[in-house]
Amino acid sequence: MTAMLYTPIPATIDRVDNETPTIKTFGIRPREPMAFAAGQFVELTVPGIGEAPFTPSSSPRIAERMEITIIKTGRVTDCLHDLAAGAEVGVRGPYGRAYPLDDFKGKKILLAGGAIAGNGWLGALSGAGLWLLLVVVVIVLRNTTPRLRIDQAVKFFWGPVSAVAAVAVVLALIGW
Ligand SMILES: Cc1cc2nc3c(=O)[nH]c(=O)nc-3n(C[C@H](O)[C@H](O)[C@H](O)COP(=O)(O)OP(=O)(O)OC[C@H]3O[C@@H](n4cnc5c(N)ncnc54)[C@H](O)[C@@H]3O)c2cc1C
Repeated sequence: MTAMLYTPIPATIDRVDNETPTIKTFGIRPREPMAFAAGQFVELTVPGIGEAPFTPSSSPRIAERMEITIIKTGRVTDCLHDLAAGAEVGVRGPYGRAYPLDDFKGKKILLAGGAIAGNGWLGALSGAGLWLLLVVVVIVLRNTTPRLRIDQAVKFFWGPVSAVAAVAVVLALIGW
């Protein structure tokens, strides 16, 4: 039992998509199907190098193949970015608590998420674009769904979130 828990399942990278110069999405096909739920993560092993945790970015309905979007940031991820389709890796898991999606059924939900973006001007533009999109979504919701108590959310987004977004845009412009 313990051995299974810590032994990676051999897997093949069947596709690599370049998202930005530092971000790639890897299609990974484990030798045995690996069912996971939204919100869980897996440990991805580069043989002889090491392993790191990643959250699949593909549908949890598909257990035969998963996609993982990875930013190049250090030892394991640098090696992963050097791999091409056909390379062998290992995957174990899933781990972590899944999102309680059933609890959300029939309820109104407000989604707020973080993201990774490109460096420099591209990152700044996408950051500013996402921020504007968020503000527009909140305004539209405010005007089309009067029962929704989001006036405080609007105040929050125009206040602290705008300040943080402005700082993020400046940092992205100077290459952070
Ligand atoms: C639950 C979970 C899910 C995740 N999901 C994703 C995902 O979907 N996609 C994704 O891209 N990432 C994800 N991550 C983050 C990912 O696991 C890390 O980016 C990865 O572990 C980095 O491993 P590495 O060996 O490439 O980097 P490391 O070599 O461990 O380096 C990591 C950072 O530490 C710095 N560093 C390393 N050594 C030193 C040192 N000696 N002194 C100072 N600084 C140092 C590096 O510069 C780098 O910034 C997730 C993390 C967790 C916990």
